[in-house]
Amino acid sequence: MHDDARFDTRAIHAGQAFDPTTGAVIPPIYQTSTYVQDGIGGLRSGYEYSRGGNPTRTALESQLGALEGGVRGLSFASGLAAEDAFLRTVLAPGDHVVIGDDVYGGTHRLVRRVLGAWGIRHSTVDTSDLDAVRAAIEPATRVLWVETPSNPLMKISDVAALAALGRERGVLTVVDNTFASPALQQPIALGADVVAHSTTKYLGGHSDVVGGALVFAAGQEELAERVGFTQFAAGAVSGPFDAFLTTRGIKTLGVRMERHSRNALAIAQRLESHDGIARVFYPGLPSHPGHELAARQMSGFGGMLSIELAGGGEAARRFAESTELFQLAESLGGVESLVNHPWSMTHASVRGTEAEVPESIVRLSVGIEDVDDLLADIDGALARL
Ligand SMILES: *Cc1c(COP(=O)(O)O)cnc(C)c1O
Repeated sequence: MHDDARFDTRAIHAGQAFDPTTGAVIPPIYQTSTYVQDGIGGLRSGYEYSRGGNPTRTALESQLGALEGGVRGLSFASGLAAEDAFLRTVLAPGDHVVIGDDVYGGTHRLVRRVLGAWGIRHSTVDTSDLDAVRAAIEPATRVLWVETPSNPLMKISDVAALAALGRERGVLTVVDNTFASPALQQPIALGADVVAHSTTKYLGGHSDVVGGALVFAAGQEELAERVGFTQFAAGAVSGPFDAFLTTRGIKTLGVRMERHSRNALAIAQRLESHDGIARVFYPGLPSHPGHELAARQMSGFGGMLSIELAGGGEAARRFAESTELFQLAESLGGVESLVNHPWSMTHASVRGTEAEVPESIVRLSVGIEDVDDLLADIDGALARL
C-alpha cells in the first residue's frame, strides 16, 4: 500500500499484509496466549505474551492508526476500557476534566463515579458553546473530552476551535469519534490530540463484538507510549478473535457509512413532516442548529438521529415499542436498525445528573436495510401514536 493511499484503500489494506508462510490473503487469527522463545529472550518478531502484544491486535491497531491519520492506535476490550486507560494515565488526584453535557452516559459515569472516587474533578458543559468551554477550563484541567455528534441529542461541536483552545490552555483535546466514524470525520486532521472509539459500534459494524480504541496524533508519541504501558500493565486488551472481527468490519466501513447516512436522511425527513414529532435531531437537516458546522467538519451526516415526541414520555415509549424492523435494544452502529429510549435504557445512569436526557426522546440507529422497508416501519409506528 502506498503512503498516500486514500481512505477506503487504507481501510482494506493498512496492517493487513498477507501471511508470508502460506500466502493466505487474510492474516491469521493468532489465538495464542504465549510465544516460544529461541533461547532466553530470543523473541520472534517481538511477541512474548498476548497481554503485551498479539499479531492480530497489532494488525487492528495499525489499521485504526491509518484510518484516523494518527501515529499510533491502541485497541482495548471495550470503549470504556480505552477511555479508562487513557484517563488514568494522564490524570492524578486533584486534576480536572471538562466533559460535554450529553456525552455517552457511560463516559459520564466513568468520570463521575469511578474516577471521582480517586479525586478527579469534572465540569459538565455544552461543548458546542466555545465560551462555556473556555470558562470551564481551570488551571488543574488536563483533558477536554468532546463527543460530536453527541449522544443522543446530536449536538455538533467545533473540533478545530476546541482543539485550538485546548492547545492554548495546555489541555489535551480528546474526541470520541464513535458516532461519525473516521469515514465521515477526521478529528486529528482538525487538531485533536487523541481520538477515542467504541469500536463496538460503526467500526465493528455488525453488533457482534465489543471493543474500544485510542488513536494518537503526531506529536503525541510519548503520550501514546505511556497509555500503551497502561494497556499492557492494567491489561484491558482486546482478544485476538475480537480484534479480527473488528478488522473485518472496518474493511466495509466506507460503503456502510454512505448507506447509513442516506437511509438516516430519508427517515429524518419523513419524521420531520409528522405532527406527532416535535423535533428531529439530525445534523443532515437544514433545521438542525449544527447543520452548517457539520457540513464543514464532516463528509456525511451518519446514521444516528433522535426525535422528540410531541406526546412526551408516554408517546416516546409507545413509539420505541411499536417499531418492528427497528429492534428495541441498546447500542448502535450495526447493519441492522435499532431503536432506544435513552431515558430508561442507555442514559438511565445519568438520570438526576446534569447530563439527564428528557423522557420524550427516542434515539434511532438507522441500519443499511432497504430504505423503503425502514420507512414503512416508521410510518407504522407513527400511525400508532
Ligand atoms: C458505546 C459508546 C461508548 C462506550 O463503549 P463500549 O464499547 O460500550 O464500552 C463510548 N462512547 C460512545 C459515543 C458510545 O456510543
